[in-house]
Amino acid sequence: MTTVTSPSGPAANARPFLHGTELAAIGRVLETGQYGHGHETDAFESELAAHLGVDDVVAVATGTAALHLALLAAGVGPGDEVVVPSLTFCASVQAILATGAQPRFVDVDPATLCVTAEHIQTALTSATRAVMPVLYGGRAVDLAPIRDQLAERDIAVVEDAAHAFGSLTAGRRVGATGDLTCFSFDAIKALTCGDGGAIVPRHPAEADQLRRARLLGMTSPREQRVQTVSYLVAVPGFRYHLSTLHAAIGRVQLTHFDEVTACRRHLWRSYATALANVPGVVLVDLDVANTVPFNCVVRVPASVRDTVHARLHAAGIQAGVHYPPNHLQPAFARWSRSLPATEAVASEILSLPFHPNLTDADLTFVVTALAAAVSAEPAALHRGKAVPAGQPGVR
Ligand SMILES: *Cc1c(COP(=O)(O)O)cnc(C)c1O
Repeated sequence: MTTVTSPSGPAANARPFLHGTELAAIGRVLETGQYGHGHETDAFESELAAHLGVDDVVAVATGTAALHLALLAAGVGPGDEVVVPSLTFCASVQAILATGAQPRFVDVDPATLCVTAEHIQTALTSATRAVMPVLYGGRAVDLAPIRDQLAERDIAVVEDAAHAFGSLTAGRRVGATGDLTCFSFDAIKALTCGDGGAIVPRHPAEADQLRRARLLGMTSPREQRVQTVSYLVAVPGFRYHLSTLHAAIGRVQLTHFDEVTACRRHLWRSYATALANVPGVVLVDLDVANTVPFNCVVRVPASVRDTVHARLHAAGIQAGVHYPPNHLQPAFARWSRSLPATEAVASEILSLPFHPNLTDADLTFVVTALAAAVSAEPAALHRGKAVPAGQPGVR
């Protein structure tokens, strides 16, 4: 990424942050000659479990693979429906389709860009087999009001916590609340393996099931315990294991995760302070005290969003949009329905550059450019105000 305007680079919307010892860790693994699933992967799993305060974690190749396997473990398949917000990365939806099930798209709260228990409840049908809250921005989603109902109806919760590694909910880590929780460790996530993912299983038998499914259905070395001349293919499976090379990167990242957490919270709070008095710009809240922020999202009036986006890019600032709604994507048109809050906020949101390489000076540069871009559009200040927080779809 070349930087147009600043030495440390506010230009990138998101980028991996390396601590310096990842290269040595990869070198060490390269020399062992063990590149597939291996001891390094097992060690990463144990360290993730310790970090989250859970009994076990199953590492996989990507966050998408984690979602796919978790849905299968929840018994999701053809004929089933999975409730999912439209405002998520398309991977959430593709994972549902990969099981043969159908997505049932729901709206989000414009103040948080997360689903609420109410949104999910109104979308439940007799075909619902699982619900997939997306922890947008890293913020936990509280399903307490509908937990009993979900349990009674045998509906599983598969959390898309791709943004939320390290975040807290009710004093515990996301992942430690008894749901099937899925993380992503892709290049732009707060903890990266280059590519990687993980599932928190609900019980030991489920962990075994997931471990077989990620290794082409073969009984895992852990289960086999002895070396034999054969292997046993017990169930259908996928080539979804996490390679030792990626696990080695993740292990280094995990030892520095507290610093990353502090840095991301500092950045988000700095943005919040700097944006507080910028007319026409509303910051999407993410409960920073409990969240490891994944991104920094603002809403500007829909009538000027695209122009502001273009002006920022012209200034060398790669603002992004997370996400174009899935119910409006051609691939998912069959399941499209009217989602007024999602459609309204999707035309207002902009993700500002957000990564630990960002300096305070970069941040000031971004906010100054944003304020200038918005105020260059008088419409932004005088009409078409952004939807007020907490009032879905009010225009
Ligand atoms: C990153 C991401 C995924 C997919 O994770 P990968 O590791 O890229 O496969 C799924 N859902 C959301 C919300 C994401 O941000």
